[in-house]
Amino acid sequence: MKSANIIWQSGQTNISPIPAWYALPKPLDTLESIAIIGGGIAGLACAYALCKRGLSVELFEAESAIATKASSNAEALLRPQLSPDHNLPDQFYTEGYFYTSQIIHSLINSGHIFEHNLNGLLHLASTPSSLKRFAKIAEKREFPSDVAIAVDPLRASELAGISLKNSGFFYPQAGTVNMQEFCQALLKACGDKLIIHTKQKISRLEYQATKWALYNDSDHMLIQAKTIIIANAAAAKELSHCQDYPISELPGQVSIVPSNSSSQSLKVPLAYEGYITPAKNGQHIIGSTYRRGREQDLSESSRDHQLVADYLARLAPQLNLDFAKAKAWVKARSITPDHLPMVGAIANKATFMQAYQKLADGNNRVVYPQAEYWPNLFVSIGHGSKGLSSSLLSAEVLACIMTGQTLPIVAKTYQAIHPSRFWLRELKRQTCCSSPC
Ligand SMILES: Cc1cc2nc3c(=O)[nH]c(=O)nc-3n(C[C@H](O)[C@H](O)[C@H](O)COP(=O)(O)OP(=O)(O)OC[C@H]3O[C@@H](n4cnc5c(N)ncnc54)[C@H](O)[C@@H]3O)c2cc1C
Repeated sequence: MKSANIIWQSGQTNISPIPAWYALPKPLDTLESIAIIGGGIAGLACAYALCKRGLSVELFEAESAIATKASSNAEALLRPQLSPDHNLPDQFYTEGYFYTSQIIHSLINSGHIFEHNLNGLLHLASTPSSLKRFAKIAEKREFPSDVAIAVDPLRASELAGISLKNSGFFYPQAGTVNMQEFCQALLKACGDKLIIHTKQKISRLEYQATKWALYNDSDHMLIQAKTIIIANAAAAKELSHCQDYPISELPGQVSIVPSNSSSQSLKVPLAYEGYITPAKNGQHIIGSTYRRGREQDLSESSRDHQLVADYLARLAPQLNLDFAKAKAWVKARSITPDHLPMVGAIANKATFMQAYQKLADGNNRVVYPQAEYWPNLFVSIGHGSKGLSSSLLSAEVLACIMTGQTLPIVAKTYQAIHPSRFWLRELKRQTCCSSPC
């Protein structure tokens, strides 16, 4: 019976059906000694979610400061992700967008200062396929006017302050955030509940009786902690407990280009095949590229400047920006094959595959055991191109799992971001390949 593996979690405030292989781990029995690996937005968001619950956290960052890698983006876009069928990624990233906006406003209200501009963003249909997609969204979905408003080219031009031939959506509360400054604000908001250790690369973790021991490159033990959150993006793969996850790096470049008299009229960020932000300090941020097949290349690339210049020229040729004077910001995103992050408790792959092997035969009649995880070991990685929308909600999910609170997402979304989903797919692929299709 399929339902035999769908349990109503006990000991959790969640009343949601979750299959045995994704069962929620038991809440932590002690909320002491929590360590986070990685000081980008994912790690800082976890620290913030735990510190605001009164818990103390130590964070280990390999570099000499926090938010120097992908999370050093000076003007990252924060916007909802809409789809015609309100699919799971759309739900996750849009809920994440609302959640991050809420945290931003709460930090601002408590006096934290970081650069941001959430006065609206235009998402324009710039290709035949995006035009079709936007038309479907407009036909099938209805949004409150403070979330998304369908706009024709005339209205889009009025909102943008420059002439545009594209229709699209205006998101009145979306915009840009300086991710590095936002990370600093999260750090400050944690107060003395958070201790940051910089220049401390964690190279190995080992479970010893009741605690995790974290070791640096010289195999010197830095800390023993009851609970660990791995939040160091694609570098997580270097840690043995994450080595089986399909997480990889995808570098990209944004161009920082001097504004001119035409481009200074731009009033709101535009998202299309690429994106452009309004001039600030005489410069636009124009993004962004995806270096597929060039995963190791983090150098400035004139080809990438040209690519985003071409996208912009198709949208607004009158801006005529001088890309010869462009500077570059190049960093690597951590990505997963299904473009959703990996957030949750970490299982041992061999144990998982053995426990659920019969699923490979399509056998749902077996009563499967509840998922077993490494003790108090969690992960928040793979935030791809939407770290702003994704990291804060992911951190809240982890904090709720750890403390036994109701999850802020529905059971289907919890399963969609569960790290073990890739192993389950591996099992199901075995079924497909062994049966005559
Ligand atoms: C070109 C480009 C444009 C982007 N534009 C946007 C955008 O407009 N909007 C948006 O929301 N997102 C955007 N993103 C994505 C966003 O930047 C990422 O999703 C986000 O920064 C990921 O945060 P993170 O904390 O997971 O990773 P990172 O910021 O990379 O942080 C990981 C941290 O872990 C540290 N670390 C690594 N290994 C170890 C170790 N062994 N021990 C200790 N520390 C370690 C690293 O030094 C680093 O500080 C963009 C990304 C790129 C590359």
